[in-house]
Amino acid sequence: MYDLVVVGAGPYGLSIASHAAAAGIGVRVLGRPMASWRDHMPEGMFLKSEPWSSNLSDPSGEHTLAAYCASRGLRAEHGTPLPIGVFTEYGLWFGRSAVPSVEEETVVSVRPRTEGFLVETEGGETILTRTVALAVGVMPFVHRPEPLRALPRELVTHSSHHRDLSRFRGLDVTVIGAGQAALETAALLAECGAHPRVVARAGSVAWNTPPQPLERSALRSLIDPHCGLGTGWPSWVWSETPWVVRRLPGALRTRIVDRALGPAGAWWLRDRVESRIPVLLGQRLRAAVPAGGGVRLSLETAEGAATTLETDHVVAATGFVPDIGRLGLLDPYVRNRLRLAGTGRAPEVDGRFESSVPGLFFAGLLTAPSFGPSMRFVYGAGFTAERLVRGVRRRLGGRRGAPVPGSRRSAGSRATVTLG
Ligand SMILES: Cc1cc2nc3c(=O)[nH]c(=O)nc-3n(C[C@H](O)[C@H](O)[C@H](O)COP(=O)(O)OP(=O)(O)OC[C@H]3O[C@@H](n4cnc5c(N)ncnc54)[C@H](O)[C@@H]3O)c2cc1C
Repeated sequence: MYDLVVVGAGPYGLSIASHAAAAGIGVRVLGRPMASWRDHMPEGMFLKSEPWSSNLSDPSGEHTLAAYCASRGLRAEHGTPLPIGVFTEYGLWFGRSAVPSVEEETVVSVRPRTEGFLVETEGGETILTRTVALAVGVMPFVHRPEPLRALPRELVTHSSHHRDLSRFRGLDVTVIGAGQAALETAALLAECGAHPRVVARAGSVAWNTPPQPLERSALRSLIDPHCGLGTGWPSWVWSETPWVVRRLPGALRTRIVDRALGPAGAWWLRDRVESRIPVLLGQRLRAAVPAGGGVRLSLETAEGAATTLETDHVVAATGFVPDIGRLGLLDPYVRNRLRLAGTGRAPEVDGRFESSVPGLFFAGLLTAPSFGPSMRFVYGAGFTAERLVRGVRRRLGGRRGAPVPGSRRSAGSRATVTLG
């Protein structure tokens, strides 16, 4: 029996695994490393977060993005957007260097057992473990507006379905949404020869301003402090004190997560969108039906003015909504026993990321309604990994199993790393 199985090998899963292995916990890590970044983001995208706030976390603090970039002769500087390809390679390097072993396996079920959980992989392996950390990221929670759900994938896709947008060259593409994914997808579509337009419910597009220099006067820093999620006191609280957020009433936490750091385009994207791509604002999507090989969209303003438009393809850049009901791998008995956070459908976790089902831990987006907006960003991975591993140790108590080959509690040599 293992001490811990980490499901997921994105920034959160890899950070948790690194901390767990260093703590001598017998851990297995299952998942395709950096899958969201390798498989679900179009080539040509840039990191929106600053490089210094985009670190995965290991206990030594040595495996930073800056260290990776320095070792490769790359620049990772404040105020300079970093290609997501570099960040992806950094994550893979972290997985090889700071985690004993990652197995590229999909988990199909997690079921309770008397002394823990039975984890089953797509390959048919069953693994008994005392605790489980679910760090499955954002992809299970892809959100498509209701009118688009019945349409086939040839006509409607989600922004996370694309690595290569060149298949849309010459086509009229409507991108729904007003956040970074919508605006950057539209820019990339235009740059590869498609004819995109953006349709959004919002009355205006919000653009971030360029980040302030890291070195500023003490007064300026006091008025408008820097933090992992930008500048300003509200962001400072969300990013630097997630434990404070967790102590707020559930309904307030839900409101904070829904509203804080809302949709906005990065400062460096503005010139690539404004005056190049038509943006229809204040439009609610009422209906979408197949028409003439494409899609006919019915839109309506808040005042009731209706428009229809025809388009070859719709890309819903409408984000991700954490909902435990959509996590099919989790045994229904367990799902139904989970206490939920605030007024949403994500599990409530305690101060060490343990859910109301003993031994079952969550990380990443699913914990944003408990710990606040930083859990939606890489920045939250360090706080999570350190706390969650303390929680696992507390749950294990004296019940630790034999060391797993590759964990730092064993002889020290690393097991095979199956990173691509
Ligand atoms: C377009 C886009 C741009 C973004 N840009 C930024 C940015 O600039 N800065 C930032 O901080 N954040 C950004 N984010 C948010 C980013 O996704 C998260 O910060 C980060 O990836 C969360 O890490 P994670 O480990 O929780 O999840 P993910 O990175 O989504 O990783 C999930 C992992 O779980 C695995 N997994 C899922 N299901 C299973 C299963 N059943 N069995 C086994 N493994 C499974 C996957 O294979 C993967 O390894 C962006 C998101 C998007 C969509």
